[in-house]
Amino acid sequence: MAVHLHEEDLPEGALAPGPVAVDTETMGLITPRDRLCLVQISDGQGDEHLVRFGPGSEFNAPNLKAVLADPARLKLYHFARFDLAAIEHYLGTCAAPVFCTKIASKLVRTYTDRHGLKDLVRELLGKEVSKQQQSSDWGAAELSDAQKEYAASDVRYLHAMHEILVERLARENRTELAQACFDFLPARARLDLAGWPEHDIFSHEAA
Ligand code: MN
Repeated sequence: MAVHLHEEDLPEGALAPGPVAVDTETMGLITPRDRLCLVQISDGQGDEHLVRFGPGSEFNAPNLKAVLADPARLKLYHFARFDLAAIEHYLGTCAAPVFCTKIASKLVRTYTDRHGLKDLVRELLGKEVSKQQQSSDWGAAELSDAQKEYAASDVRYLHAMHEILVERLARENRTELAQACFDFLPARARLDLAGWPEHDIFSHEAA
Protein backbone atom coordinates (compact mmCIF):
# COMPACT_ATOMS: atom_id res chain seq x y z
CA MET A 1 0.00 0.00 0.00
CA ALA A 2 1.68 3.17 -1.21
CA VAL A 3 0.94 6.57 -2.63
CA HIS A 4 2.84 7.33 -5.86
CA LEU A 5 3.29 10.88 -7.13
CA HIS A 6 3.88 11.34 -10.87
CA GLU A 7 4.47 14.48 -12.92
CA GLU A 8 2.31 15.18 -15.99
CA ASP A 9 1.33 11.54 -16.77
CA LEU A 10 0.81 8.08 -15.37
CA PRO A 11 3.62 5.59 -16.04
CA GLU A 12 2.64 2.91 -18.52
CA GLY A 13 1.25 -0.26 -16.92
CA ALA A 14 0.78 1.32 -13.49
CA LEU A 15 -2.73 -0.09 -13.11
CA ALA A 16 -4.17 -3.60 -13.05
CA PRO A 17 -7.10 -4.26 -15.40
CA GLY A 18 -10.64 -3.58 -14.20
CA PRO A 19 -12.50 -0.64 -12.68
CA VAL A 20 -10.51 2.40 -11.54
CA ALA A 21 -11.35 4.93 -8.85
CA VAL A 22 -10.83 8.52 -10.03
CA ASP A 23 -10.81 11.92 -8.35
CA THR A 24 -9.46 15.36 -9.22
CA GLU A 25 -8.15 18.37 -7.32
CA THR A 26 -8.33 21.81 -8.91
CA MET A 27 -7.66 25.45 -7.99
CA GLY A 28 -11.37 25.92 -7.27
CA LEU A 29 -14.92 25.14 -8.24
CA ILE A 30 -15.20 27.11 -11.52
CA THR A 31 -13.77 24.61 -13.97
CA PRO A 32 -12.72 26.83 -16.92
CA ARG A 33 -11.15 29.35 -14.51
CA ASP A 34 -9.63 27.02 -11.92
CA ARG A 35 -7.01 24.78 -13.43
CA LEU A 36 -6.76 21.03 -12.94
CA CYS A 37 -3.83 20.31 -10.59
CA LEU A 38 -4.11 16.63 -9.73
CA VAL A 39 -5.78 13.46 -10.97
CA GLN A 40 -5.86 10.62 -8.46
CA ILE A 41 -6.38 7.10 -9.73
CA SER A 42 -6.41 3.66 -8.15
CA ASP A 43 -7.06 0.12 -9.39
CA GLY A 44 -8.32 -0.90 -5.97
CA GLN A 45 -5.36 -3.15 -5.19
CA GLY A 46 -4.03 -0.88 -2.44
CA ASP A 47 -1.87 1.70 -4.22
CA GLU A 48 -2.96 5.19 -5.21
CA HIS A 49 -1.40 7.15 -8.07
CA LEU A 50 -1.39 10.95 -8.04
CA VAL A 51 -0.72 12.62 -11.40
CA ARG A 52 0.24 16.24 -10.96
CA PHE A 53 -0.04 18.95 -13.63
CA GLY A 54 2.07 22.09 -13.30
CA PRO A 55 1.09 25.67 -14.10
CA GLY A 56 1.07 26.05 -17.88
CA SER A 57 0.75 22.31 -18.40
CA GLU A 58 -0.24 21.18 -21.87
CA PHE A 59 -2.05 18.21 -20.33
CA ASN A 60 -0.32 15.89 -22.72
CA ALA A 61 -0.79 12.70 -20.72
CA PRO A 62 -1.31 9.81 -23.17
CA ASN A 63 -1.15 7.01 -20.59
CA LEU A 64 -3.61 8.63 -18.21
CA LYS A 65 -5.96 9.62 -21.06
CA ALA A 66 -5.91 6.07 -22.45
CA VAL A 67 -7.06 4.68 -19.09
CA LEU A 68 -9.71 7.36 -18.61
CA ALA A 69 -11.08 6.98 -22.15
CA ASP A 70 -11.05 3.15 -22.13
CA PRO A 71 -14.68 2.09 -22.67
CA ALA A 72 -13.90 -1.29 -21.06
CA ARG A 73 -12.88 0.30 -17.76
CA LEU A 74 -15.57 1.45 -15.37
CA LYS A 75 -14.60 4.69 -13.63
CA LEU A 76 -15.69 5.06 -10.00
CA TYR A 77 -16.15 8.60 -8.64
CA HIS A 78 -17.71 10.40 -5.73
CA PHE A 79 -19.57 13.31 -7.39
CA ALA A 80 -18.54 12.38 -10.92
CA ARG A 81 -20.16 15.49 -12.39
CA PHE A 82 -17.33 17.75 -11.22
CA ASP A 83 -14.49 15.38 -12.13
CA LEU A 84 -15.94 14.61 -15.58
CA ALA A 85 -16.13 18.34 -16.39
CA ALA A 86 -12.55 18.99 -15.22
CA ILE A 87 -11.20 15.98 -17.15
CA GLU A 88 -13.18 16.89 -20.28
CA HIS A 89 -12.09 20.54 -20.16
CA TYR A 90 -8.38 20.02 -19.41
CA LEU A 91 -7.59 16.56 -20.76
CA GLY A 92 -10.13 16.56 -23.61
CA THR A 93 -11.30 13.11 -22.56
CA CYS A 94 -14.74 11.74 -21.71
CA ALA A 95 -13.88 9.60 -18.67
CA ALA A 96 -16.80 7.14 -18.95
CA PRO A 97 -18.38 4.65 -18.31
CA VAL A 98 -19.23 6.03 -14.90
CA PHE A 99 -20.35 4.87 -11.47
CA CYS A 100 -20.95 7.73 -9.02
CA THR A 101 -21.08 6.79 -5.34
CA LYS A 102 -22.82 10.08 -4.48
CA ILE A 103 -25.72 9.45 -6.87
CA ALA A 104 -25.93 5.81 -5.77
CA SER A 105 -26.02 7.00 -2.17
CA LYS A 106 -28.86 9.44 -2.91
CA LEU A 107 -30.84 6.66 -4.60
CA VAL A 108 -30.52 4.14 -1.76
CA ARG A 109 -29.82 6.11 1.44
CA THR A 110 -33.12 8.00 1.35
CA TYR A 111 -33.16 8.03 5.16
CA THR A 112 -30.45 10.72 5.31
CA ASP A 113 -29.32 13.87 3.52
CA ARG A 114 -25.65 13.18 4.34
CA HIS A 115 -24.13 12.04 1.06
CA GLY A 116 -20.62 13.46 1.43
CA LEU A 117 -17.67 11.09 1.00
CA LYS A 118 -16.79 11.28 4.69
CA ASP A 119 -20.30 10.26 5.82
CA LEU A 120 -20.57 7.52 3.21
CA VAL A 121 -17.19 5.97 4.05
CA ARG A 122 -18.07 6.06 7.74
CA GLU A 123 -21.46 4.41 7.34
CA LEU A 124 -20.62 1.80 4.70
CA LEU A 125 -17.07 0.90 5.72
CA GLY A 126 -16.67 2.17 9.28
CA LYS A 127 -13.54 4.13 8.28
CA GLU A 128 -12.63 7.75 8.82
CA VAL A 129 -11.37 10.07 6.09
CA SER A 130 -10.18 13.57 6.83
CA LYS A 131 -11.51 16.46 4.74
CA GLN A 132 -9.04 18.94 6.24
CA GLN A 133 -6.94 19.45 3.10
CA GLN A 134 -9.94 19.79 0.75
CA SER A 135 -9.58 23.55 0.39
CA SER A 136 -5.81 23.76 0.16
CA ASP A 137 -3.43 25.08 -2.49
CA TRP A 138 -3.27 22.22 -4.97
CA GLY A 139 -1.16 24.38 -7.31
CA ALA A 140 1.75 24.61 -4.85
CA ALA A 141 5.23 23.67 -6.13
CA GLU A 142 5.45 20.94 -3.47
CA LEU A 143 2.46 19.04 -2.15
CA SER A 144 2.60 18.40 1.60
CA ASP A 145 2.39 14.88 3.01
CA ALA A 146 -1.05 15.79 4.39
CA GLN A 147 -2.22 16.85 0.91
CA LYS A 148 -0.89 13.64 -0.69
CA GLU A 149 -2.56 11.49 1.95
CA TYR A 150 -5.85 13.40 1.58
CA ALA A 151 -5.76 13.14 -2.22
CA ALA A 152 -5.05 9.41 -2.06
CA SER A 153 -7.75 8.76 0.53
CA ASP A 154 -10.34 10.26 -1.83
CA VAL A 155 -9.92 7.27 -4.17
CA ARG A 156 -8.98 4.64 -1.55
CA TYR A 157 -12.50 3.49 -0.61
CA LEU A 158 -14.43 3.81 -3.86
CA HIS A 159 -14.02 0.16 -4.95
CA ALA A 160 -15.30 -1.17 -1.62
CA MET A 161 -18.20 1.30 -1.62
CA HIS A 162 -19.04 0.48 -5.22
CA GLU A 163 -19.51 -3.20 -4.29
CA ILE A 164 -21.83 -2.36 -1.41
CA LEU A 165 -23.81 0.23 -3.36
CA VAL A 166 -24.35 -2.16 -6.29
CA GLU A 167 -26.00 -4.57 -3.82
CA ARG A 168 -28.04 -1.81 -2.21
CA LEU A 169 -29.26 -0.54 -5.60
CA ALA A 170 -30.33 -4.08 -6.52
CA ARG A 171 -32.07 -4.53 -3.16
CA GLU A 172 -34.07 -1.32 -3.68
CA ASN A 173 -34.74 -2.13 -7.35
CA ARG A 174 -33.02 1.06 -8.52
CA THR A 175 -30.15 -0.41 -10.56
CA GLU A 176 -31.59 0.68 -13.91
CA LEU A 177 -32.47 4.14 -12.69
CA ALA A 178 -28.94 4.56 -11.32
CA GLN A 179 -27.45 3.37 -14.61
CA ALA A 180 -29.54 5.90 -16.55
CA CYS A 181 -28.27 8.66 -14.24
CA PHE A 182 -24.65 7.52 -14.65
CA ASP A 183 -25.05 7.38 -18.44
CA PHE A 184 -26.30 10.99 -18.45
CA LEU A 185 -23.40 12.32 -16.36
CA PRO A 186 -21.00 13.14 -19.22
CA ALA A 187 -23.76 15.26 -20.81
CA ARG A 188 -24.53 16.87 -17.43
CA ALA A 189 -20.84 17.80 -17.13
CA ARG A 190 -20.90 19.24 -20.66
CA LEU A 191 -23.95 21.34 -19.78
CA ASP A 192 -21.97 22.70 -16.81
CA LEU A 193 -19.12 23.67 -19.12
CA ALA A 194 -21.40 25.05 -21.84
CA GLY A 195 -23.15 27.57 -19.57
CA TRP A 196 -25.93 25.71 -17.78
CA PRO A 197 -24.12 25.01 -14.50
CA GLU A 198 -26.99 25.41 -12.05
CA HIS A 199 -29.96 25.32 -14.39
CA ASP A 200 -31.97 22.10 -14.29
CA ILE A 201 -32.64 21.45 -17.97
CA PHE A 202 -35.60 19.23 -17.01
CA SER A 203 -37.24 21.90 -14.92
CA HIS A 204 -40.40 23.73 -16.07
CA GLU A 205 -38.70 27.04 -15.29
CA ALA A 206 -37.42 29.03 -18.26
CA ALA A 207 -34.02 29.76 -16.73
MN1 MN B 1 -10.80 15.02 -3.78
